[in-house]
Amino acid sequence: MAMDVTFLGTGAAYPSPTRGASATVVRFEGECWLFDCGEGTQTQFMRSHLKAGRITKIFITHLHGDHLFGLPGLLCTISLQSSSTTNTRPVDIYGPLGLRSFLRRTMDLSHSQLVFPYVVHELVPTRDQCPPEELREVSFVDRDDTSLEETQGDTLCLDPVEDSYVLVDNEQFVMKAFRLFHRIPSFGFVVEEKPRPGRLNVQKLKELGVQPGPLYGKLKDGATIVLENGTTVSPSDVLEDPFPGRKICILGDCSGIVGDGAVRLCDGADLLVHEATLDDTQAAKAKEHGHSTPKMAAEFAKLCKAKKLVLSHFSQRYKPAGQVGEGDTDVTELKRQAELALDGQEVVLAEDFMTIGVPMKNKHSAI
Ligand SMILES: [Zn+2]
Ligand SMILES: [Zn+2]
Repeated sequence: MAMDVTFLGTGAAYPSPTRGASATVVRFEGECWLFDCGEGTQTQFMRSHLKAGRITKIFITHLHGDHLFGLPGLLCTISLQSSSTTNTRPVDIYGPLGLRSFLRRTMDLSHSQLVFPYVVHELVPTRDQCPPEELREVSFVDRDDTSLEETQGDTLCLDPVEDSYVLVDNEQFVMKAFRLFHRIPSFGFVVEEKPRPGRLNVQKLKELGVQPGPLYGKLKDGATIVLENGTTVSPSDVLEDPFPGRKICILGDCSGIVGDGAVRLCDGADLLVHEATLDDTQAAKAKEHGHSTPKMAAEFAKLCKAKKLVLSHFSQRYKPAGQVGEGDTDVTELKRQAELALDGQEVVLAEDFMTIGVPMKNKHSAI
């Protein structure tokens, strides 16, 4: 089953001709999930091989404009390009407290109407996710003032035992959020595929006298069967070890983590996307603005034993490799710094329109 990550915007603060503002897409099992939606995300979609109309869920890491200002426009364009009869599955939107009010007011004041339903689920941050002077009391405004297209979403609070927020949990995968420290409360997200049943061992099936056909499917689905001769065959008799699931972690802007949820949830990540706004020589400035450097990102990746670290959210001063003009700074210095901190492990620099596949694991890659 294919699973991949596409970067539509890898720049910090504002979109530029060389880097779009934050937007990342994860695709798997017919799902198309958008993480952050900076200004211009809809045109980045049009320039890419992806279709915005296929989005099933949207996750906003925090409410800074370079992660959010593209959302109302994107929703309106998807609506313009959809037919009211075909697109009835609601789009789930997750993000920090305040997101519902932002969208509701924007849509209302601009008299925008969508042909498809949407629902906003808000994550309630804790007070230690930003400096005290930046704290805003976001109230649950206009709670009853939902429009025709918006249905009331959930308000999700931190599970203090797990130190995380559960967003989605179904047969195929689980999606959780964890707390980050930034100028305003920010979150990271982890999507983890559940283990898949192992292959049927045909030799064992033959030995036990199970005939090829529907019984194979039942065993694979986890059901115990009884043969005509009275023999009971349970799945564990004929299934090989399960395939471990894949794990992708996408962090919002941060200069650190809050609590121990982040490290635990990101443990062993197959792909970890972490911001690196400024290079290591600018560490003090980065921290002052609630951001990370390559070394900081690498240290977190090391703590989590991440298999692949991808850096993104670069200050617009770092031009993509190959587009460096006179007086510009080459982004490859950030790769070098992260790799140094990771003892030589290869680090990937995200670029707009780059796609990274996350291959299925075989059972031997289990812990
Ligand atoms: Zn940002
Ligand atoms: Zn930010």
